[in-house]
Amino acid sequence: MKGQKRLLAHNATTTSRRPNALCVSNLLVSTITDRRSPKQEGCFVKHSFDVLVLGSGPAGSAAAITAARSGLSVALIDKSAFPREKLCGGGITGRSARYMAEIFELCPDRNLFLGSTRFRLAFEGSTIGEMADAPVLQMTMRREFDAELHRRAVAAGAQVFAPVKVSTINTETPSLTLADGRILSSRILIGADGANSAVARSLYGRAFDPAEIGFGLEVELDRSLTDDNTVEIDLGAAPWGYGWKFPKNDSITLGVGGLHAKNPDMQAYFRKYLALHAPHLRDKSRIRCKGAFLPFGAYRKVPGRGPVLLVGDAAGLVDPITGEGIAWAMRSGQFAGEVAVRTLQTNTRPMDAYMERLRYIHREIAVARRIRMLIYATPVRRYFPRTVERNPSMTRSYLRLLSGEVDYHDLGHKVLWRIARQLGVAALGR
Ligand SMILES: Cc1cc2nc3c(=O)[nH]c(=O)nc-3n(C[C@H](O)[C@H](O)[C@H](O)COP(=O)(O)OP(=O)(O)OC[C@H]3O[C@@H](n4cnc5c(N)ncnc54)[C@H](O)[C@@H]3O)c2cc1C
Repeated sequence: MKGQKRLLAHNATTTSRRPNALCVSNLLVSTITDRRSPKQEGCFVKHSFDVLVLGSGPAGSAAAITAARSGLSVALIDKSAFPREKLCGGGITGRSARYMAEIFELCPDRNLFLGSTRFRLAFEGSTIGEMADAPVLQMTMRREFDAELHRRAVAAGAQVFAPVKVSTINTETPSLTLADGRILSSRILIGADGANSAVARSLYGRAFDPAEIGFGLEVELDRSLTDDNTVEIDLGAAPWGYGWKFPKNDSITLGVGGLHAKNPDMQAYFRKYLALHAPHLRDKSRIRCKGAFLPFGAYRKVPGRGPVLLVGDAAGLVDPITGEGIAWAMRSGQFAGEVAVRTLQTNTRPMDAYMERLRYIHREIAVARRIRMLIYATPVRRYFPRTVERNPSMTRSYLRLLSGEVDYHDLGHKVLWRIARQLGVAALGR
């Protein structure tokens, strides 16, 4: 009760807090004092919070909004000011749309999203499956999308430190020292700083395993090139990967990505894909293509340690077949925010509660990794187009997975067995 009074007093001093504050035990006295008048420690100024969230992509903003809505004081720290660019296909699946609505109360609207139900599955440019009534895929530009999520986290009460450079990460206390000398400290640190996470590097020495990481290249093309809103996935565009064509409101995104170790020359595959889809672009050297890493199914079994939780790409939570990462980023961010609230209420160990919540996502990624072996492995890959062409229901299954209508575990053994059998038939030429 005493703690609750303190929390409500604290809420009254901040601008956009919700009144449904939780009772958060005895940590808030110092927080209140610190936030009103940061402490001077030698020549450094120290700010204390309940939670520090490093990175404000979908994962970080989800963590921040969840914790801030529950009444915690949250610092949301990013190296960039928003809006900022983020290389991504911007495909928002049905699963992502559900989490977006649940966590951010944001629904797809025409300003931010272009929805399409037209889908084509291709292999090296040839159509192998097509649907005009596919589950809707929303496509967005990450610059605007991430800025909107960030804005909502701030409106819920998160205090922004951006753009800032973080010079030191202490994962024990935990605290961050900014390049300008300010020190931010808290009870919980959430590492939401993407595939090349500095928090993961502080914990494990490196952010990802080079043998397992994915890499993608993309270009934004002029929307006036076509008024066709068909979404395309080309499973033959790169080994252990694929190409994509995602129409947006003001542009069309063409990209190729996959496992980096299997595609040392991703540029070559990208140029081939571009030649197929945009042959009219005579001077291709002038096209500005960009690349980025993504953890393509290589997740951390225990993402964090002590008071530090990793979320989204920093925890490797990307679908190993589709490359979808936004849904799990938002969901894991939400989980970490909830765990922060619980930890401060009950003084329990955050990792146990976080692992419990992540179990479903980890199981999904583990099953998808096994199915990926059958889709992408070199000896069977060449039979894949024929198999899909002969079995239109495989395209529908792929889309149902993408939309979140079914999960990998539901399909699991049935799909593995069916794909194996169909590939066997195709290989025997029957
Ligand atoms: C080419 C490509 C295409 C993709 N297409 C899709 C798609 O169509 N659909 C889909 O669902 N997923 C897609 N993904 C995956 C998706 O982009 C990621 O899974 C998702 O962005 C993860 O969100 P996040 O919040 O964990 O990390 P991010 O979105 O990467 O956000 C990390 C944030 O941390 C900040 N940051 C990083 N380092 C620091 C630091 N040291 N200090 C302070 N701040 C820092 C960054 O500025 C950024 O704001 C794609 C990925 C790639 C590479």
